[in-house]
Amino acid sequence: MREQYDVTVIGGGPAGLAAAIAADAAGARVLLIEREARLGGILKQCIHDGFGLVRFKEKLSGPEYAERFIDQFRAAGIDAMTLTFVTAIEKLPDGGFCLTAVSRDGVTAIESKTLILATGCRERTAKQVAIHGTRPAGVFTAGTAQHLTNLRGVLPTKKCVILGSGDIGLIMARRLTLEGAEVLGVYEAKPTPSGLTRNLHQCLHDFNIPLYLSHTVTRVFGADRLTAVEIAKVDDAMRPIPGTESVVECDGLILSVGLIPENELAESLGVALDPRTKGPVCDGSLMTSCPGVFSCGNALHVNDLVDYVSESGEQAGRAAAAFCGAARDLAPIEIGKELLYLVPQQIDRNADNATVTFYFRSREPMGKSRLRLQCGDAVLFEKTYPFLRPPEMERLTVDLRDLPADGALTAQLTSMEGGA
Ligand SMILES: Cc1cc2nc3c(=O)[nH]c(=O)nc-3n(C[C@H](O)[C@H](O)[C@H](O)COP(=O)(O)OP(=O)(O)OC[C@H]3O[C@@H](n4cnc5c(N)ncnc54)[C@H](O)[C@@H]3O)c2cc1C
Repeated sequence: MREQYDVTVIGGGPAGLAAAIAADAAGARVLLIEREARLGGILKQCIHDGFGLVRFKEKLSGPEYAERFIDQFRAAGIDAMTLTFVTAIEKLPDGGFCLTAVSRDGVTAIESKTLILATGCRERTAKQVAIHGTRPAGVFTAGTAQHLTNLRGVLPTKKCVILGSGDIGLIMARRLTLEGAEVLGVYEAKPTPSGLTRNLHQCLHDFNIPLYLSHTVTRVFGADRLTAVEIAKVDDAMRPIPGTESVVECDGLILSVGLIPENELAESLGVALDPRTKGPVCDGSLMTSCPGVFSCGNALHVNDLVDYVSESGEQAGRAAAAFCGAARDLAPIEIGKELLYLVPQQIDRNADNATVTFYFRSREPMGKSRLRLQCGDAVLFEKTYPFLRPPEMERLTVDLRDLPADGALTAQLTSMEGGA
């Protein structure tokens, strides 16, 4: 006899923990599956502070933030399988899903009425950015360098260059400096930094670590171990400019060149993915295109703050517990070109929609600008922002109970510089 659950959450990071707690509180029988030995996801290795400012109004470290949810999860007595990897999911003919879970005990089949995908992100690697040269040791993603430094007690470099100004790279610039390594500089191909403003100040400026915009690493040198990297300036199309190359001696190259939502399981179920976010297309309850499958946290879109990761987990948890298989009337939202993305990307006109939480980023840094949500000619929501920066995600909650029965849904971001 297979184990049967109402809600199965895949991933035990902050999104999965919040989802499981919310689904359990709503009365569902819940299972959480995590491939690592301990719950907490990426937060386990984020020993710096700055987590929970929105939710708890406190500056917590990653493990402290995670512990608050792990304590609630344990107190609720929710079933958990750790060191267990979900390798496949099958749709059952009468509704629901059958999961294949692999652990040290072997292969287990689990049935669940609904699924919450809280599988987080993976980092882009050296292979996904064009760097020529040999393949020496010493080239790490920022997350791997963080894992080695914070969880294994191993310093991966004594003198390094960081490629990419994403938050993990900035945090590792500070962390490696504090551990005695020399960080020669952070090189960013774009003309503007990719990380949060607070991280630029707290991790680079406060430690006198230079940030070189419109620069990239074009080549690595070294037989067994990295000995140097070649740096070049780039043009507006981010192509290296010949003649601007210089060689920097170092034994480490740390890559912070982006995160990609982990959605192989979603894809195997035929869930539609948004090319802008690389996460599932969802409705206001965070249900994907596959009825009964929900997505949250960094698997849905890359979040800047963990507080919003937990918020989306709770939303998905409540919605999965309430899922009854009712027919949906999905209305896609047409997203203007000034928006990098908007989540959710569609609204179920049959749902309650009393509080639909949207998250968005602008495509480029913008001064005074206006976001407007419309259904046909009716304005559903409008807000003016003094400025917008792509690294900083924006959040808004809209009451869509009175959504007109027809009319195209649109989301437009318009620059108001120049007095519009
Ligand atoms: C280096 C770094 C620094 C950060 N700094 C800050 C900060 O200062 N402040 C802040 O607010 N936020 C910060 N963040 C962001 C925040 O930590 C993340 O947004 C958050 O951890 C994402 O949560 P998640 O649950 O979606 O994913 P994760 O934490 O990545 O959890 C996903 C979990 O799913 C599991 N999983 C995946 N696939 C499977 C499978 N098939 N079977 C079983 N389990 C699976 C993984 O093992 C993992 O434990 C930082 C993130 C990083 C990486």
